[in-house]
Amino acid sequence: MSVYIIGAGPGDPDLITVKGAKLIEQADVIIYAGSLVNQKVLDRAKKGAEIYDSASMTLDEVVGVITGAVARGKTVARVHTGDPSIYGAIKEQIDALADRGIACEVIPGVSSFVAAASRIQKEFTLPAVSQTVILTRVEGRTEVPDKEKLSELAKHRASMCIFLSVQMIEKVVAELVAGGYPPGTPVAVVQKATWPDEKVVQGTLETIAGMVKEAGIGKTAMIMVGDFLDSKYEKSKLYDPGFAHEYRGSRN
Ligand code: SAH
Repeated sequence: MSVYIIGAGPGDPDLITVKGAKLIEQADVIIYAGSLVNQKVLDRAKKGAEIYDSASMTLDEVVGVITGAVARGKTVARVHTGDPSIYGAIKEQIDALADRGIACEVIPGVSSFVAAASRIQKEFTLPAVSQTVILTRVEGRTEVPDKEKLSELAKHRASMCIFLSVQMIEKVVAELVAGGYPPGTPVAVVQKATWPDEKVVQGTLETIAGMVKEAGIGKTAMIMVGDFLDSKYEKSKLYDPGFAHEYRGSRN
């Protein structure tokens, strides 16, 4: 295997996997998504590695660079932000490479939604509050299927992480309220989670749009919504002494 699609993590260069880091150290050619991947991740590149920023490249150009490198017997690291499987546009690359007889391996990464939760020390899945996490985005220049409109998803009142949408925060709030979240529902917005210039604002559906504007948050932010942010919950059964499971008998 000589083509690796690697999740770089959310920002902090230490939040790449050991496997991803080793592959970047070995790569002859590195193509990274310059708009979001921390340049420091590339400090691991070996001397003489060819480095391309895909921000200014088309799909054809990316595939062309990879194909050319493979033909020269080189190892390629295609580096994406967070985890490649979430809004990574990797399928079109994998398919185009497969059409040219080139296989690749995907190395997962720490997605920004888990990084954002870690910065405010929250758990998405609190017993009796929500056991479901919805990862989504609001419609912008890229369409979202009708059945997945925020107002539809809001009906579940699950823990929700909204990507790619902070610039439309008013629309996000309006759809969530229309869908059934009470206006007092807690919301947290984390911009550039794990970067040195990270910003965090926490409020409710009523207050969050003003807070986001005031903080000057306009892009690269995770919107997290739901009662998991601030609510009463039942303690987990996993650590309950009366709850036996595979690794521990009942102590009652
Ligand atoms: N594959 C990436 C997501 C790419 S889409 C992942 O797994 O995280 C880009 C969106 O991800 C941004 O608009 C923003 O909503 C979110 N994002 C990426 N990095 C972020 C970070 N460090 N902090 C907060 N949100 C981030």
